[in-house]
Amino acid sequence: MNQAPRPIRNSDIYNYFDVGYFHGDGPTLQMWSSRGCPFKCSFCTWPQSMTLNKVRYYSADYIRHDIEKTLQKYPDFKAIYFDDDTFNMGDQHVLSVCEVLKDFKLPWSAMCRIDTLKESTWEAMAKSGCIGVKVGVESGSQRILDDVIHKNLNLNDVYHFVPIIRSLGIKVHGTFMYGNPTETPEEMKLTRDLIQKVGFDHIQESGAAPLAGTKLWNLNEKTHLLNETDGKRYFETLEQSYL
Ligand code: SF4
Repeated sequence: MNQAPRPIRNSDIYNYFDVGYFHGDGPTLQMWSSRGCPFKCSFCTWPQSMTLNKVRYYSADYIRHDIEKTLQKYPDFKAIYFDDDTFNMGDQHVLSVCEVLKDFKLPWSAMCRIDTLKESTWEAMAKSGCIGVKVGVESGSQRILDDVIHKNLNLNDVYHFVPIIRSLGIKVHGTFMYGNPTETPEEMKLTRDLIQKVGFDHIQESGAAPLAGTKLWNLNEKTHLLNETDGKRYFETLEQSYL
C-alpha cells in the first residue's frame, strides 16, 4: 500500500470522533494500516466488491511517517483509530505497528477479529496503548456463523479471548446481527445468551440488511427471507416479536 498517495488531510479531520466508545469526545485520527480482508463473510461488502479478499499492508515505516507528518500539522489529536477492514490480520503486522505506536504515547483502537492473534500479541497491543477493539461476532448460533454468513469463527474463541483481552485493559465492543435467512427465534436468543455470558464493554445490535453484490444478497434473492432492507426497522420489529 505504500505506493498509494498519502491521504489528503485538511482541518476537517478534526471533525472525526469515536462516538464515545473508547476515546471520549476528543478528535481521533482515523487511519488504515492495511486494506482488504481474506475472510469471506457473506454479508460484508468491501472484501467482495472492492478488494476481492486480497490484503495489502502499509509498512511500519510508512505508518510512522504518516502519523508524524499528520501530528506535526494537526497536534490536537487525542487518539488514533485504525478503521481497517480487519486490523489484526497476523501477529507480524500487528507487532510491527505496535512498535511504532508505543512511541507516540497516544491511546489507540482498531477494527479487529477476535481469533487472529496469539495472546502475546494482544499483550503487545495493550502495552503500546491499545484501549479498545471492535469485533464482529454476529451470532451466538454456530449454525448461522458456519452455514449462513460464513464467518469462519468458532464461538469457543469468543468465550476464550474476550475475557483475556478485557483483562489486559482493552475494551471490547461486540457487533451482532439478527434476522439472517433461516435464523430461528431460538437462534436469536442464543445471541442474547452469548452476549450476557461472555460480557462485552459495549455491544451493537443490528437487523441483517443484505447489500447488493454480496453472497447474503444472492441468498436472500433465492429465499426471500429478508424482504426488509432497512435493518433498523427490521430489528425493531424483531425486538417486539421475539426478544
Ligand atoms: S472478517 Fe470482517 S472485514 Fe473480513 S469479511 Fe468478515 S466482516 Fe468483513
